[in-house]
Amino acid sequence: MIHLKNKEQISLMREAGRITGEALLVARELVKEGVSTKQIDTAIRSYIERCGAKPTFLGYGGFPASACISVNDEVIHGIPSADRILQEGDLVKIDTGATFKGFVGDSANTFPVGKVNETAEKLMLAAKEGFYRGVSQVKEGNRIGDVGAAIEGKVSEYGFTVLRRYVGHGVGRDMHEDPDVPNYGTPGRGARLVNGMTIAIEPMVSAGAPDVYEMPNGWTVRTKDGSLASHYEHTIALTEEGVILLTKVEDDL
Ligand code: MG
Ligand code: MG
Repeated sequence: MIHLKNKEQISLMREAGRITGEALLVARELVKEGVSTKQIDTAIRSYIERCGAKPTFLGYGGFPASACISVNDEVIHGIPSADRILQEGDLVKIDTGATFKGFVGDSANTFPVGKVNETAEKLMLAAKEGFYRGVSQVKEGNRIGDVGAAIEGKVSEYGFTVLRRYVGHGVGRDMHEDPDVPNYGTPGRGARLVNGMTIAIEPMVSAGAPDVYEMPNGWTVRTKDGSLASHYEHTIALTEEGVILLTKVEDDL
């Protein structure tokens, strides 16, 4: 069931979204050679808590941290660790969320450690541009399939692929609500978009094949062929005034 949000609920989601976006800004500053993914997670957690919010990911389904931090061929759900020290050239995906006054913000981005290779540069663009191509289809009367087809179309212009096993989703009081928002689809198919919907659009992009596997830790998702991967996500609201990017706090984030 899709939970539509009224104006007041969307303004609470804006607060949750702002905190989430700011936590990613804090994280971005720490993405440097020699820093552990655990240090980044700790900074995210303290920032969210300082804002009077709760780190949504912490304990979600048993997840042990406040952010998923996934490096290189890890796409999503990476567990922060003191032993995982970032190296020059790494491509780092950070996904986090904050719950504020009962509503959730969910956002992810991909950051380079120093200078990265050309594939990594293109992967960051593909995920971000795929997201915006998807957002361009978010309007009343369109369908979820329009969004997914647009995302996949943009990503394939780069010669890359989108993961199929993991998808975007509705967001609200829960981090994962209906509907699913795949990064692929058939135009004109799927749930109809209506004002009041709040969804996370999140292209997960592989430079090679879209096939992935879960590591024995039960969380970290990696590409099967070892390809580099990227991720870009914002929580958005579809309103009478158009689309609001709830977790976007800076132009180039
Ligand atoms: Mg997320
Ligand atoms: Mg999400």
